Amino acid sequence: MKSPSQTNAIDFDSAKLQRLGFGQQPPILERPFSLAQVRQQLGQQLQTSLEPQRILGLFFREIQRLVPLDALTYQHSASDLRLEFGHRGHHSVTYSLSHEGENLGELVFRRNQRFSDHEQSNLESLLSTLLFPMRNALLYRAATQSALRDPLTDTGNRIAMDQTLEREIEMSRRHLMPLSLLMLDIDHFKNVNDNFGHSAGDDVLKSVAASIKNQLRNVDMVFRFGGEEFLILLSNTSREAAAMVGERLRFAAQAQSYKADGNQIELTVSLGCSTLLPGESADSLLRRADSALYVAKREGRNRLAMAG
Ligand code: GH3
Ligand code: MG
Ligand code: MG
Repeated sequence: MKSPSQTNAIDFDSAKLQRLGFGQQPPILERPFSLAQVRQQLGQQLQTSLEPQRILGLFFREIQRLVPLDALTYQHSASDLRLEFGHRGHHSVTYSLSHEGENLGELVFRRNQRFSDHEQSNLESLLSTLLFPMRNALLYRAATQSALRDPLTDTGNRIAMDQTLEREIEMSRRHLMPLSLLMLDIDHFKNVNDNFGHSAGDDVLKSVAASIKNQLRNVDMVFRFGGEEFLILLSNTSREAAAMVGERLRFAAQAQSYKADGNQIELTVSLGCSTLLPGESADSLLRRADSALYVAKREGRNRLAMAG
């Protein structure tokens, strides 16, 4: 029996979220949904996020009220984005998303059972709900990513470097793996600007950055540290291995041909290398690489020096 003083409170916010499909439990497919209902649900849900992962995850879940699936993959080459939901299936249908000539990626729906014509027509109709949310998410992603990149050399900028360095130091500690750092500076770069102009200097900077990235497995770990200085983070790399990578970068930069106004430019780089010590801070690791670089310059340039 209910006591007279009992009150039943309804949390409207969570009730609303439940209705929109944000409850703890994934929705149970207890009754069939109409195309219009699912489209309406999607229309509301997909605008709640700017993350491609989240948007497509919701889409994958909700469309299964109408078309059961085993997997969904999404690919947008221009932004180097590839997402996968579920497990592979034998049959697939592929759709390219585009809006006013702008490519918004490719979707592959997979499952073990063949898709009927009716299901394909449902999928096509549901896809239209994805158009604007995905376009916004891709724009947002491009904006946040460009805030972390150096536009001239297409390497990470200082903000990206600070974030990555902190993260890598943490990882190195937790997994007891070595972490090394190379600081690379172009030798007598001022001469390039003085003799051939600033724009030729910019081209040389781009070529040096490209040559560094060509030599490395993980191009996400190259940062423009200052004007003509680059920083290369080498995760799980010992002092000896880092020295070898450094020498390889030095050779590659020297071997590359640089041209300005049809003139061949001779170019070399100097490097300083440091390896994380137990308990060492990011600042100290950077400072030791910088001191080593200074030694390389003082001892004649076009060389690698190891931090003590
Ligand atoms: P060192 O061998 O001792 O490193 O000599 P350096 O001439 O390379 O070094 P210095 O620090 O004297 O000069 C660096 C020059 O890099 C000066 C600056 O004008 C130039 N610089 C910095 N950023 C840019 C850039 O974005 N584009 C161009 N073209 N030049 C730049
Ligand atoms: Mg220099
Ligand atoms: Mg410099």
